[in-house]
Amino acid sequence: MECFDVAVVGAGPAGSTAALAARRGGADVVLLDRSDFPRDKPCGDGIAPEVFDVLAGLGVADVAAGYPAVPALRLVSPGGEVVARRLHAGTHTIPRRVFDHRLVAAAVDAGVRFRRHRVRTVAHDDDRVVLDGRFAARVVIGADGAGSVVRTALGHPTNPPGHLALAIRGYAPAPAGPPEQRIVTIPGRWPAYAWSFPIGDGRANVGYGELLTGGALTRGYLMARLGALLPDLDLAGATDWRGHHLPLSTRRPSPGRGRLVLAGDALSLINPFTGEGIFYAVVSGTLAGTAAAGAVAATGGADVAARYRRGLARRLGAHLRHTAVTARLGRWPRLVDAAVRAARDDQAVFDTLLGVGLADGRLNAATLWRIIRRL
Ligand SMILES: Cc1cc2nc3c(=O)[nH]c(=O)nc-3n(C[C@H](O)[C@H](O)[C@H](O)COP(=O)(O)OP(=O)(O)OC[C@H]3O[C@@H](n4cnc5c(N)ncnc54)[C@H](O)[C@@H]3O)c2cc1C
Repeated sequence: MECFDVAVVGAGPAGSTAALAARRGGADVVLLDRSDFPRDKPCGDGIAPEVFDVLAGLGVADVAAGYPAVPALRLVSPGGEVVARRLHAGTHTIPRRVFDHRLVAAAVDAGVRFRRHRVRTVAHDDDRVVLDGRFAARVVIGADGAGSVVRTALGHPTNPPGHLALAIRGYAPAPAGPPEQRIVTIPGRWPAYAWSFPIGDGRANVGYGELLTGGALTRGYLMARLGALLPDLDLAGATDWRGHHLPLSTRRPSPGRGRLVLAGDALSLINPFTGEGIFYAVVSGTLAGTAAAGAVAATGGADVAARYRRGLARRLGAHLRHTAVTARLGRWPRLVDAAVRAARDDQAVFDTLLGVGLADGRLNAATLWRIIRRL
């Protein structure tokens, strides 16, 4: 059996940042993933600028090298209102095959041990957790995504309909014209949208996602919606179609218990409005890794869940309350139309809504008032 201070299950953005933060805090860390890297992960590959701030705090630079920032966003509301504006810092589109591999490499460079291993069983004893009888650790961080086995071991089911979305993505030839991120929503099936995010290498990440409300959504249905909403895309020339679930932050389990904590999608940290999850993954991963290293040093790991809960509440608590309110308001398409009209008129409204949708921004009274006036 291999023994570590901290074992991280899953090497996506949540797991790599958790491993890095724990290692920077002085812990002996193993990072486990069922795949070898580089590996693909179905995603829109849209990386908000705030993600790079979190990574810089962990000493990771140049993650976006070779992938230019996309300078503008065009958004169509369910009622057909359009806002097209420059982005204050630009959003990058970096294929996850590249982005996640760069983060794993940074963790390994910092001294994290990587092992290819699919975790199946999680067993506790008094002062450690044992994974598959093979790896023992004082603390285990479950960063194993939407189908997390660590979350199951904590007794939490997956998100139910109404709090779970399904999306499909592919790589298509980039549409003609200056590079911009395009998001087109749909009347009738709202909340749902199609996207086209140019990568900068002649391709665009394109896809469509929708909230699950009980019935099954087929691949043919998702593809047809994408084609209808973005008819200028060359879908016949697209490759690598893959779908995946998105557990939304409107139904989150407790962040941890005993020596187990959850981060990223395993903790249902996906924005219910935009489907953004990478910012939350790197923030929660960093907090989990920091809490793990601190707990190992102070109590042998016993108080990791309490430390992590406090850190999450401080960093994301108010924002997640604002997102929950936004998600409830946003179910009303007329309000979304009004928000898009307000964002078209006013850069401050645009920036505030972007901060709520892509990072840890909060709504404010001035923004709400400007939206209500445009109803
Ligand atoms: C189609 C689609 C489009 C999206 N677009 C965007 C977007 O443009 N921008 C954005 O910010 N977010 C987007 N998201 C959300 C984003 O992909 C996730 O929020 C993000 O990947 C979460 O990171 P994570 O590290 O928590 O989990 P993941 O990235 O899912 O990583 C989990 C890792 O755990 C590993 N693993 C799983 N089970 C085990 C096991 N039992 N043992 C060992 N390893 C295991 C997996 O191999 C994987 O490497 C999108 C999601 C989908 C489905």
